[in-house]
Amino acid sequence: MTFEDLNLNTPLLNAIADLGYIYPTPIQAEAFSMVMSGKDVIGVAQTGTGKTFAYLLPILRQLSFSTQKNPRVLIIVPTRELVVQVVKEIEKLTQYINVRFAGVYGGTNINTQKQLVYDGLDILVATPGRLMDLYMTGILRLNSIQKLVIDEVDEMLKLGFRPQVESVMEILPPKRQNLMFSATLTEDVEALIMSFFYDPQKIEIAPHGTPIEKIIQKAYHAPNFFTKVNLLCHLLETDPELEKVLVFVATKKLADRLEEELTKKIAGDLIGVIHSNKSQNQRFNVIDNFKEGTLRVIIATDIIARGLDITDVSHVINFDMPAEPGDYIHRIGRTGRAEKDGEAITFINDAEIEYQMAIEQMMHKAIPIVSLPEEIEISNIYTDEERPALGDKNYLKAPSLKNSKGAFHKKKEKNVRTNSGSPARKRPQYKKSGKKIKRK
Ligand code: AMP
Repeated sequence: MTFEDLNLNTPLLNAIADLGYIYPTPIQAEAFSMVMSGKDVIGVAQTGTGKTFAYLLPILRQLSFSTQKNPRVLIIVPTRELVVQVVKEIEKLTQYINVRFAGVYGGTNINTQKQLVYDGLDILVATPGRLMDLYMTGILRLNSIQKLVIDEVDEMLKLGFRPQVESVMEILPPKRQNLMFSATLTEDVEALIMSFFYDPQKIEIAPHGTPIEKIIQKAYHAPNFFTKVNLLCHLLETDPELEKVLVFVATKKLADRLEEELTKKIAGDLIGVIHSNKSQNQRFNVIDNFKEGTLRVIIATDIIARGLDITDVSHVINFDMPAEPGDYIHRIGRTGRAEKDGEAITFINDAEIEYQMAIEQMMHKAIPIVSLPEEIEISNIYTDEERPALGDKNYLKAPSLKNSKGAFHKKKEKNVRTNSGSPARKRPQYKKSGKKIKRK
C-alpha cells in the first residue's frame, strides 16, 4: 500500500511526496480509516514508527477551512519538547493547506501564547498545565473542540499528569472524538481508558512493550556509579561508532554528577545535559546542538525519553536501569527510528537486576549480557545512594564533588579493598542493632 491508496487529498499527498515518503507505516495505514470513521481510537505501535502522522493525516484530511477563532483540534502531550516536535510535523504536512496551528507550553512567556490563541487557531498543541493556565485567562475557549488527541497516553494518565488531564477533559465538549497513542500501554491504563471513553477501538501493531527489532540491545553488569563512569568513558573513547549518544539517568542529581565526571575524564567531547531544572532555552539549545552534531552526548533524565524524534541517534545508553519497564522501551526507542538502525547499551548493577528481569519479561526477550572489557577498572567506591541503608561504615564513600580528583585516585593503604567477586555478596551484613552478621 502506498499513500496514494489512502483517501488523502492532493495537498496532503503533495506534502508527503515532498518529504519523500511513499509507504504509510502499519500504524498509519490502519489508523487512517478508523480515525476517519469518527470512532474513539487507541493506537499502540512501536517507538519511531510514525504515530504522529497516524493521527495527523486523518485529522488534516477532515479539517475544513474555517475562520472561527476557537480551536477545533486539541493535541496534548507530556513535554514541551514534544509540543515543538508535533508542531513541526503539522508544519510539514500543511505546506499546501491553509490551517492555523500553534504550540503552547510552560516555562515561556504566556503573553505571546495568549496572542496566538486570540488571533484564532484550528489546531492547538499543548502541555496540560499551560493549557489550563491559558484557559483560566478566559482567552482560550475550548467549546469548539471536536477532536482530542492524547499522545503518550499512558504517561498522561499516570498520577503526575492525570488530575490535569481530567480537568482538561471536564471542560471539553462531551461530544468529541478521542484519539490516544503510545508505544506502551499497561493493562491498568487500558482499563482506565475504557472507563473514561465509550467503546474505543484498539489498533495494536505490536503488543505493548515490544521493542523494535532493529535496535540492537546489550547490557553490562557494573557494580556501581564509578565503574559505570569508567565503562562509559571507555566506550566513548574507544568506539567511534558512538557518534550521537543519548545517556539516560534516573535523577537530575545523577545527570549533573555524571556530566561532571565525564567532563573531567574525556576532554574534547561535548556533552549537554537535560533535566527539569534546566531552563527551557537551555533544553532546546542542547537538543538543537545535538541535532546539528555540535554535541556528541546528551545526558538526560526520562523527561526526554518519550516521543522525541532526533534523527541518527546512534546509541542510547541506559546508565541505570529504569524501574518502570515501559520507560526502558521509550528510552531505547530514541534510536532506531524510521528507517534507521540503532543500538541500546544498558549498565546494570546488582540492585537493578530485578528491573532487568521485569523488562525482559515484558519484552519476552532477554537482553544479551556482555562481559566488562578487561581494561575497565572496577571501582570499590560507592556513592551515598548506593551505600546500604543500614549505614555500612566499611563502604568507601564517594569523594565530594568539589574536591574530587576522579573516581580512581590513589587511596590510603588501609582504605583499599580488593574487589574479587560480586560486590553484593561480599558486602558485610548488619543487624538492626548495628552488629555485624557473621558469615558462615
Ligand atoms: P514518529 O513515530 O511519529 O515520531 O515518527 C518517527 C519518524 O518517522 C519521524 O521522523 C517521521 O517523520 C518519520 N516518518 C513518519 N511516517 C513515515 C513514513 N510513512 N515513511 C517514512 N518515514 C516516516
